[in-house]
Amino acid sequence: MRIRVLGAGWFGCHLSTALLADGHDVEVHEVGNRIFGGASGNIPARLHLGAPHYPRSFVTQQACQEHQAEFLARYGRFTRAIPVNIYAVAKDHSLIDFGTYKRVLRDQVEFITLYDPTEFGLAYVEGGVMLGERHIVVDDARAYFSEVLDGAIKFNTPIGEVDHPAYDMTIDCSFCANDSAGVDRYEPCLVVLLKGPTDKSVTIVDGPFPSLYVWNEGLGLSSLSSARWTPFSKTCKTWAEARALLNGLSAAEIERQAQFMLGDMAGFYPAVRDLYEIADYRLSIRAMPLSGADTRLVDVARVGERALRIRAGKIDAVLAAEKVVKGMIA
Ligand SMILES: Cc1cc2nc3c(=O)[nH]c(=O)nc-3n(C[C@H](O)[C@H](O)[C@H](O)COP(=O)(O)OP(=O)(O)OC[C@H]3O[C@@H](n4cnc5c(N)ncnc54)[C@H](O)[C@@H]3O)c2cc1C
Repeated sequence: MRIRVLGAGWFGCHLSTALLADGHDVEVHEVGNRIFGGASGNIPARLHLGAPHYPRSFVTQQACQEHQAEFLARYGRFTRAIPVNIYAVAKDHSLIDFGTYKRVLRDQVEFITLYDPTEFGLAYVEGGVMLGERHIVVDDARAYFSEVLDGAIKFNTPIGEVDHPAYDMTIDCSFCANDSAGVDRYEPCLVVLLKGPTDKSVTIVDGPFPSLYVWNEGLGLSSLSSARWTPFSKTCKTWAEARALLNGLSAAEIERQAQFMLGDMAGFYPAVRDLYEIADYRLSIRAMPLSGADTRLVDVARVGERALRIRAGKIDAVLAAEKVVKGMIA
């Protein structure tokens, strides 16, 4: 079949690679000028274990467990273990207390309870655990897809009709840029890259809290994000509105938001100010699902006679999406 894939993020790149391997004639059309220029290349890229990050969504916990194994089997070489990976429950304003959090974790992951979180430099937390988790090295995955999709990607393509008669099938992997069905809002997001040690990650749960997360060991970078300060807005109803907001940001506005995030993290991990310095900023757009703030499932829908659309939740679902897409194509 002659297949067009819109978007060169994780979903577009993975599906294109899989469909090329099946012998299809695949063209990838990317509106930007590089692979992973959208969310896929500009986020913490945690390979979620489930319960630690989503203690309030059982379906997402199950999906993480299923998808993680498949993802590691295919792309494990682009992931790294984090030596000291701490999840801690905030003392105030948390949506879950530490006892309940541990009860949720207990059935699903192995963890060590921190006897005294202050020994790990933490402040203002009710309790914390250390657990194994891997992160995806975005730059390594980008380099791989650049090589395998060389010649198949057209960059700077204009935005046109999704259902296009020149192709037997178009698969829209634009993270809902063209289609807001099932999307509650589009969040224009900031992730800050910090230069410093890469042997430790600290994630504060569960609610409007920050996270310092290893990003690229080779470059000495960690990402800083914050449920409260990463989104610049929670009211954009279209991708274009979110894009316009990001395009209109001044350097001073980005810097101010980054400082809020740093202050947020310093409240729980004061050493962040001494150990790290701001190295870079990453902007992207996240399509948030209608189905609830803590639900991150992938969804594949038919949106035209010859068109499918992927609504992504998390990166690890690329293989699950592949199975559904292949079934629908067949
Ligand atoms: C702040 C933040 C933190 C996150 N943290 C994690 C995490 O830790 N772990 C995790 O698994 N997931 C995380 N996610 C979710 C994850 O980023 C997404 O699920 C995933 O990257 C989506 O991949 P994608 O390929 O669908 O979209 P994208 O990577 O956004 O790719 C879409 C591509 O489509 C292009 N495009 C747009 N419109 C068109 C068009 N009309 N024609 C052609 N191309 C077009 C864009 O330029 C872009 O390159 C996070 C998201 C955000 C925003």
